[in-house]
Amino acid sequence: MDMQDLLADIAEEAKSAQPAGRVAHYIPALADVEPSRFGIALAYPDGHVIGAGDWRRRFTIQSISKVFALVLALAHRGDPIWSRVGREPSGNPFNSLVQLEYEHGIPRNPFINAGALVVTDLLLEHTDQPSEMLRDLLRVESGADDIDVDMAVAESEFGHIDRNAALGHLMADYGNLRHPVPQVLHHYVRQCAIAVSCEELARCGSVLTRHGMRADGSRLLSRSEAKRVSAIMLTCGAYDAAGEFAFRVGLPGKSGVSGGVMAVVPGRFTISVWSPGLDRRGNSVAGIDALDRFTTETGCSVF
Ligand code: GLU
Repeated sequence: MDMQDLLADIAEEAKSAQPAGRVAHYIPALADVEPSRFGIALAYPDGHVIGAGDWRRRFTIQSISKVFALVLALAHRGDPIWSRVGREPSGNPFNSLVQLEYEHGIPRNPFINAGALVVTDLLLEHTDQPSEMLRDLLRVESGADDIDVDMAVAESEFGHIDRNAALGHLMADYGNLRHPVPQVLHHYVRQCAIAVSCEELARCGSVLTRHGMRADGSRLLSRSEAKRVSAIMLTCGAYDAAGEFAFRVGLPGKSGVSGGVMAVVPGRFTISVWSPGLDRRGNSVAGIDALDRFTTETGCSVF
């Protein structure tokens, strides 16, 4: 089947089904979105993108931003970051405090919230505006100059920041945050609230599909660093359901609580989906069903 036809078919199937799962509500502004939304896009390394459904409608990137923050931290701080954040699956919810206490403030990986806060702290050693730096990376890689923070979502999350603040203060106590917790939270929340479409997200993820090369042909990450980011997506990208994601989809991927998922077929294409209804672990139900169907029908997985 032609790729465009397959995406259209997947979108049609998702749109005609009853919306499954539950829209995230712990950030109140995220609950405002229509549960029946579904978009899917596929970007080839040369920048050509195809898509179906709501593939041009924006949603907040949420945890998928953690991939790009890690890319920037590796590009600008390099290997020393691994003394402050691990690269093992956590097996715990993304905002859990428990493991952090008995592992002395060193988060298991950069994709749980604690790990992402450390990455933001590391970026603050390089720039005093890490969320702007991340936004600018997304603007340039997607070619969409108007990508920006959705302030309604950011402010909504600032109003419900206690758990992330607790993670930050615990790590500061262990000496693993070097900047004031409010400053780290400010940039972390803003990076999560950047609004992108499936089309834009797929283009941005191509930096991994191209093994570390930017859209303009310059190198952002070494091939080995790009491999490592994708490896961490595979093992840690879907909260405490990374095993299930690998089992069903078979690709490095990263999900977010707004219902977005970005997955990479290294060397071939990036695929992104968005559908707001989440399962109990925070992954998009229709999004993962779609990726499962896509890799099953095309045989495009890393396995
Ligand atoms: N901004 C969200 C939080 O920190 C992101 C969570 C996610 O997408 O996993 O809770």
